[in-house]
Amino acid sequence: MPDFTMTTDADGVATITWDVVQKSMNVMSTEAFGLVSTLVDQALTDPAVKGIILTSAKKDFAGGMDLNVIAQMKLGGAQAVFDGVMQIHAMLRKIERAGMDPKSLKGGKPIVAALPGTALGIGLELPLACHRIIAADNPKAKIGLPEIMVGIFPGAGGTTRLTRKLGAMAAAPYLLEGKLCSPREAKAAGLIDEVVAPEDLLARAKEWVLSATEADLVKPWDTKGYKMPGGAPYHPAGFMTFVGASAMINAKTQGVYPAAKALLAAVYEGALVPFDVALKIEARHFTGVLMNPSSSAMIRSLFINKEALDKGANRPAAPDQSVKKLGVIGAGMMGAGIAYVAANAGIEVVLIDNTQDAADRGRAHSEGILDKGIKRGKVTADKKAEVLARITATTDYAALKGADLIVEAVFEDPKVKADVTHKVEAVVGTDCIYATNTSTLPITGLAAASIRPEQFIGIHFFSPVDKMNLVEIIRGKKTGDVAVAKALDFVRQIRKTPIVVNDARFFYANRCIIPYINEGIRMVAEGVEPALIENAAKLVGMPLGPLQLVDETSIDLGVKIAKATKAAMGADYPDEAVDKVLFWMADQGRLGRKSKSGFYAYDDKGERLGLWEGLAPKYPLDKLQPSLTDVQHRLLFAQVLEAVRALEEGVLTDIREGDVGAILGWGFAPWSGGPFSWLDMIGAARAVEICRGLTAQFGPRFHAPALLREMAEKAETFYGRFGGEKAAA
Ligand code: NAD
Repeated sequence: MPDFTMTTDADGVATITWDVVQKSMNVMSTEAFGLVSTLVDQALTDPAVKGIILTSAKKDFAGGMDLNVIAQMKLGGAQAVFDGVMQIHAMLRKIERAGMDPKSLKGGKPIVAALPGTALGIGLELPLACHRIIAADNPKAKIGLPEIMVGIFPGAGGTTRLTRKLGAMAAAPYLLEGKLCSPREAKAAGLIDEVVAPEDLLARAKEWVLSATEADLVKPWDTKGYKMPGGAPYHPAGFMTFVGASAMINAKTQGVYPAAKALLAAVYEGALVPFDVALKIEARHFTGVLMNPSSSAMIRSLFINKEALDKGANRPAAPDQSVKKLGVIGAGMMGAGIAYVAANAGIEVVLIDNTQDAADRGRAHSEGILDKGIKRGKVTADKKAEVLARITATTDYAALKGADLIVEAVFEDPKVKADVTHKVEAVVGTDCIYATNTSTLPITGLAAASIRPEQFIGIHFFSPVDKMNLVEIIRGKKTGDVAVAKALDFVRQIRKTPIVVNDARFFYANRCIIPYINEGIRMVAEGVEPALIENAAKLVGMPLGPLQLVDETSIDLGVKIAKATKAAMGADYPDEAVDKVLFWMADQGRLGRKSKSGFYAYDDKGERLGLWEGLAPKYPLDKLQPSLTDVQHRLLFAQVLEAVRALEEGVLTDIREGDVGAILGWGFAPWSGGPFSWLDMIGAARAVEICRGLTAQFGPRFHAPALLREMAEKAETFYGRFGGEKAAA
């Protein structure tokens, strides 16, 4: 079956239906574009056809462009991308003009988009070229242009059409932030024209086609005297918008995301010229963005590889291991969050703590999240009752009977954890998989307390559990394949992204974050201006500077981890200089945001005011401050070298997991596509050269790992060597 089919009824209304076989959601491929173009041609030239309805046979309209196609398009180089995009423009323009005479604007046939559900990316750009957009009143549907989230921007006319339809200011949230909305919200915002009951969708579309006048088919921008809503750039109001937008984009992106800048340029320049020229300008900027290594790295990590991991790319072969009954031990911050996400995904949960009070508090955490959802109109009272009914809060381990997965989230103490393992294993069935949420204790060591170590695994969530999308699954030495499959199936049920790593100190994410924080603190001890440290981090795309990050995660936790690491490493421990600052801060009672005092000062409500002035007397600023680039290199290499070592040591077995995990786990500069993508971007040889300089100045922690040196010598890239790509995309 082709992706698009057309039928024409007795009243002369042609319906073009989108239905990509073997996919639950329509996505646009190059061939499909050609096909829909041919069908539109047929309908426009067929005298028996009065008008066209464009719709979908699925519950949704479309999820967007197949981003693999974009990756393919790039292989032909910039000219091929530009030509391909211009062809798409020509086809959409054909729909928009619908056979009318370009001068008199008469003689066109009405084309309406009828959206049964979600319409994203090209799934909205195509309707935007139609003469009317009618959507079914489906509150679950999402409508919008999310391209910016994967490092590109709407390049099939969406940027130019939406700006001309709504004005630059009103279009900004949809274009610049990728804001999605329900059909009703989309109607209120002017993205679409009409919302009708789902069962009336096609009838209403047909009614509109048959009653549309010639004037209904002419887009405002094709009429004489069209003025952009809110004003074009040289209009006084437009001027304010564009100056503000430029500042806003730089503040939000720190200038590291090429797509946002290019989008604004396309909007600004496009607003000064006629529509068809604006489309050409959009195509040029879009081509520029597609050819930028940052965009391809973002698409690769945040879309293609994330999706592959979500689908269980590294799942061992085993029958379906979906979780039916989950036991969560420890109803503290993490346990309560895990109970919520599981219950929300339809899993029955038994939540256990030492006292009934503590267990109830854990359950109340879910209630709090659901209540917030109700306030925002995202959750119904029924849904709340349903989710809460799935969580049993108790102190009684016997309630775990029949559980097929346990996640332990008690205190970070091997003795307490071992005791819990014994108690659980005494009541659960022999098939039950046991997972620990430990963040620092090696899984193999904890598994020693288990009578079934092959069923013992690490499932490491990040805080706050309901917001953080990464889950790190850790294989202990004896962990079996079924346990890994179980963990992966569980993570898929709760709709998070998994990475599977082998057991080693701090696993993967924490192993890379800790050196980042430590490098920041080390610089404070050296007399580097703290504002320089924090800004250098942000200007290279890290969401939080290292000092803000340690304030958020808490300084006493840092002290605890430092002490435990030192005890384990003995004489090899490398972070004495860091500890001096960290321990001194803890001694001052400055424990981070939770104590409303840390490297930053806070007001009574816990709002951050600015860097704490008390640091300067203790750690006077060096007269000679390092350059911004030097600080950035220290902060980035502290992380990426750990990622390379993790790969070298076999903790990471898949660089895709290393990149996706870094962005989702600790926000590693998303524009780069992750540590391995970034190293590919600068090249192994340059990376080794920078390491040499850093090592000479700051010590052996920056020594380039053997793997990186070897790759530099052989002129290899990570994605070439480990990801099967010919060259870094
Ligand atoms: P927490 O102190 O908030 O919660 C621990 C809970 O376990 C408490 O409610 C406590 O009463 C309960 N508990 C202790 N002993 C118990 C026992 N024998 N039986 C039943 N319940 C018991 O701690 P948390 O922050 O939720 O951390 C829990 C685990 O998750 C730790 O292993 C921690 O390392 C790990 N973790 C924490 C984070 C984080 O950001 N806090 C992130 C990832 C992993």
